[in-house]
Amino acid sequence: MSSLIRLEKIDKIYTMGDNTLKVLNDVSLEIQEGDFVAIMGPSGSGKSTLMNLIGCLDIPTGGKYFFKGKDISNLEEDELAFFRRHQLGFIFQQFNLLSYFSAAENVALPLLYTEGKIEKEKSHELLTKVNLLDREDHLPREMSGGQQQRVAIARALINRPRLILADEPTGNLDSHSEKQVLEILRELNQSGMTIVMVTHEEEIGSQCNRVIRMRDGEIVSDTRNFPLPVRDLPETSMEEFPHTGLSLAEHFRQGLKQLLSNKIRTFLSILGVLIGVASVVTMLAIGTGAQKAIEKQLSSLGANLLVLRTGSLRGGGAAAEAGATALLYEEDAVAVRNKFPAVVQTVASVNGRAQVSFKNKNWNTQVTGVTPEYESLRSSTPSEGRFFTEEEDRKRSRVALIGMTVYRELFNGRPAIGEEIKVNKVYFKIIGILPEKGAGGWRDQDDVIVVPLQTGMKRLFGRNTVDSVDIQVDDKTDMSELQDQILDYVTTRHKIPPSQKDSAFQIHNMADIQAAVSESSKTMTMLLTVIATVSLLVGGIGIMNIMLVAVTERTKEIGLRKAIGARRRDILYQFLVESVVVGVVGGLLGIFTGSSLALILNYIVGWPTSISMSSVVVSFIFSFLIGLIFGVYPARNASRLHPIQALRYE
Ligand code: ADP
Ligand code: MG
Repeated sequence: MSSLIRLEKIDKIYTMGDNTLKVLNDVSLEIQEGDFVAIMGPSGSGKSTLMNLIGCLDIPTGGKYFFKGKDISNLEEDELAFFRRHQLGFIFQQFNLLSYFSAAENVALPLLYTEGKIEKEKSHELLTKVNLLDREDHLPREMSGGQQQRVAIARALINRPRLILADEPTGNLDSHSEKQVLEILRELNQSGMTIVMVTHEEEIGSQCNRVIRMRDGEIVSDTRNFPLPVRDLPETSMEEFPHTGLSLAEHFRQGLKQLLSNKIRTFLSILGVLIGVASVVTMLAIGTGAQKAIEKQLSSLGANLLVLRTGSLRGGGAAAEAGATALLYEEDAVAVRNKFPAVVQTVASVNGRAQVSFKNKNWNTQVTGVTPEYESLRSSTPSEGRFFTEEEDRKRSRVALIGMTVYRELFNGRPAIGEEIKVNKVYFKIIGILPEKGAGGWRDQDDVIVVPLQTGMKRLFGRNTVDSVDIQVDDKTDMSELQDQILDYVTTRHKIPPSQKDSAFQIHNMADIQAAVSESSKTMTMLLTVIATVSLLVGGIGIMNIMLVAVTERTKEIGLRKAIGARRRDILYQFLVESVVVGVVGGLLGIFTGSSLALILNYIVGWPTSISMSSVVVSFIFSFLIGLIFGVYPARNASRLHPIQALRYE
């Protein structure tokens, strides 16, 4: 009869700080194939330690271990895992069933690592053997201790191991269940299986073929009660099993099952990512929306526009004595148009706030006085009614055009053309409604009343100067050169000393203004994105936190999975897939929530939001990466757990 196990001078020393504890001392032992061996001895004598070494869950400090003649003392961790899954079956005192798996799934669990998936059907035969077929869909908590242990025995058998290692398998059982379990083990032995069992009950020990007694880490006696049965056992080599890894789909299925088994926790970690991603999508939509709205408004003004404004005159007294004035008049607009052939049109304008009223409705708005060229220069052809004429301007007629916001406030859908409104207590007749330009950026462009320039200056504001002159230039001209020439011309007209040239008037190029504004709105978008990214990061840390807790909580499960043959990589992927699923699901829900929010803001609140495809794609990739990156650390921790420490963890 061939020897299955041969231990030569095995030592096991635990080091705790400065103390060393020799738990196994020079243990040499040979176990024959087909035997039924009991290991007995007082608590703390090293029985479990010896079993774990035989079971390759732990490595000896010194000595050699041969399994079927092959030296396995120096195998790598994953090689040991491979060895465990095909050669060994474990039965623990604590059963160690996975609580969220049914009996059948628990039995078939080792197949995950040998065949790549859990096939419940393959557990039927074994559940029949342990007389539990009627409990196959029950969860461990729905079964008695004896039933759970029988499930654990069936699990140990599913990969047809050579050796069953049972560490006090009846320690937690009542005497009836104890009998059942021992009966099953005896039957297994009769069919050729080698069994090594730790027990402290003399009665059980006396029924085994061979009894090994330990004390203080040494074998003190070794007696044979019954002769080694002579059986014709089939020879199997240790190398014949294929390496089968889990498919990604199976990892995914397992991950989902795990996540669903703890719904509240899963929901909370998904919520973290969801909020992060949703805020990224919404904030980007608000940012780009605002930017687009501003750019649209600005581009409607045209890039070939210059705006001339009054500045300030330093040392006012002396300069004023020399006849200098830093004020603009309507004549300046006319003079500039006549002087420069490249100037197509000019419009002088005055601005002020005014209280307007119609019947019992009141509104405070901006009143702009302009010359009739404003209509074409600022693309303001009325959507209803007409613009005023040059004659009306000259005659200071009391006519006005109102913007959409003013129209809504005062008339709210009723016809307005021809009605009289009061502007600062002066009656004006409404002759037109200005085209809608949209709210966006810094102010509502439709909250305005436009009146003739002369009317505005003389009747409303009582002044003879203007605030600014818009200058439209033909397309071919070099703007910056013309800009300088106009400034020179105007300062000369107003006798401004050359030293004050730059401060007396300001001239701006619309293209420059556009660039500056879109630059600042880009900055705003970036700021929003940074804020949102921080919340995404917080979501990621949430995942990591929950995964770390899960690893701690499931330490025993990891130990068990390793005992039945899971490699480091299997455990690593198991946890990674879970956190990636959380990241991706949170990401998808976040994109949905964020987009809905952006649409709600657009249609109900009226903000100009714009959801870009790129922000959706980027946040999806981001949430995937968050799951991956924040899952790596806990998953690595889990995969590096030592099987025996994990199993002993309470
Ligand atoms: P038995 O199963 O015979 O009751 P064990 O093999 O579990 O005994 O333990 C033998 C001795 O080794 C005990 O004194 C125990 O405290 C010690 N021991 C077991 N595991 C560790 C460990 N990881 N670190 C330190 N000491 C340990
Ligand atoms: Mg023990």
